[in-house]
Amino acid sequence: MSGLPETDEVDILLIGGGVAAAGAAEELRRQGFRGSVALATRESDPPYYRFYLTKDYLRGGIASDDLAVHSPEWWQDNDVQLWLRAPVLALDLEARTARIGRRSVRWGKALLATGANVRLLDCPGASLRGVHYLRTTWNADDLRKDLQTARDAVVVGGSFIAAETAASMAALGVRTSMVFPESAPLARSLGVPVGGIVEDELSRLGVAVRGSSIVKSLRGDDRVFTVVLADGTELRADVVVVGVGARPEVTLAKRSGLPLGATGGVLCDATLRTGHGQVWAAGDVCEFDSIRHGRRVRIEHDRVATAQGRHAARAMLGSDAPFDTYPYFWTTIGEDLHIDVLALDAPADEVTPLDPTAHRELLPRQPKRSGGTGGPAPAAFRYGAGGETVGYASINGALSLQAVQRELTRVRGAGVLPEEKP
Ligand SMILES: Cc1cc2nc3c(=O)[nH]c(=O)nc-3n(C[C@H](O)[C@H](O)[C@H](O)COP(=O)(O)OP(=O)(O)OC[C@H]3O[C@@H](n4cnc5c(N)ncnc54)[C@H](O)[C@@H]3O)c2cc1C
Repeated sequence: MSGLPETDEVDILLIGGGVAAAGAAEELRRQGFRGSVALATRESDPPYYRFYLTKDYLRGGIASDDLAVHSPEWWQDNDVQLWLRAPVLALDLEARTARIGRRSVRWGKALLATGANVRLLDCPGASLRGVHYLRTTWNADDLRKDLQTARDAVVVGGSFIAAETAASMAALGVRTSMVFPESAPLARSLGVPVGGIVEDELSRLGVAVRGSSIVKSLRGDDRVFTVVLADGTELRADVVVVGVGARPEVTLAKRSGLPLGATGGVLCDATLRTGHGQVWAAGDVCEFDSIRHGRRVRIEHDRVATAQGRHAARAMLGSDAPFDTYPYFWTTIGEDLHIDVLALDAPADEVTPLDPTAHRELLPRQPKRSGGTGGPAPAAFRYGAGGETVGYASINGALSLQAVQRELTRVRGAGVLPEEKP
């Protein structure tokens, strides 16, 4: 592992320390690329899986080494230079140089995989001590430390990050409330019926779920101790965790003059190439012309970010194929609720329960787990838009993802399923 660059030139520069950049590094070597490759990240850790942060890592079930995408030896064996604590401060697109610390590094091709940052809570008291966000291992460590002495906590937000965090905090024995404006958790991203299942599970785990609630302010002295809702309710909180979404990290892209899109991401064509012929983008920061959606989209899912990193690597080596991976994401709430979603748009116009007897072709050969120790029973939902099927949600292994992919390929000519975690 190394720190700042010790070279003035690299053939391919990967900017960012997430799964998108790691996927690109991996694919470059898998394709047999023999030139020099460097990955520059502003974090002190090599690329790791963020999805553990709200789940096993927060609950203390795994150590930080277990989060790593690759072992330290992998980077050495594959001759990928790892520049840690090395934020790229400026990118000169004409001269093809990057400023990292005091050094100017020339690059032949570059990948922007700068990911996203948390969206901040905007209300009085939001910067009190005891208010947390979750994006990095550092954030999770900080939260874990605070949870050791906390009795009451409030999670703000109805996202999957908020739901997963609330479930983990309840498992740690902290009295946890979850407040959000939607009618049910995850309703905005997965639809109300799926949100209802999530809400029941969170309640079963001991989380006080408060939908249709808006946070007006946080009160405290130096530390937070109360969350005040718009209806006047006051909730005691030694710890507040905010999970209200993310914004693409485009500071560098903006500074270097790369065009941005309507969602705020770096604008790319269907092959993930940016407005500069030798720069590509991948992951949460990438807003691309999706041939599958028929419009520009930006997707914030782990597997999609990895798949985009790999795709961009192939594009750097000369492929002009469009990125056509069907969006897949999963969430695990507590130990007993696992949701897989393979969908262009969820929740789309229609979210309908799927009668398994009428769709035997989508069922797994072996029935999957039936909700662990009292979790929800397997269930499935179909997402539709304008009368057409655009995807499926599978609760606790109700559907075979491979079968769903085959079905989507049949009805929509869908692209490939993101690869399994290597
Ligand atoms: C807590 C949490 C839980 C999640 N759970 C799930 C889940 O269950 N399922 C799922 O599908 N997805 C999940 N996600 C989403 C998934 O983790 C993201 O989609 C994925 O991490 C995106 O990867 P990325 O490489 O695009 O960006 P990131 O992971 O954000 O990495 C970007 C990297 O670039 C670095 N960087 C930024 N600017 C610079 C610069 N100028 N110079 C150098 N480095 C820079 C950042 O520090 C960071 O290391 C979760 C996300 C979080 C935060």
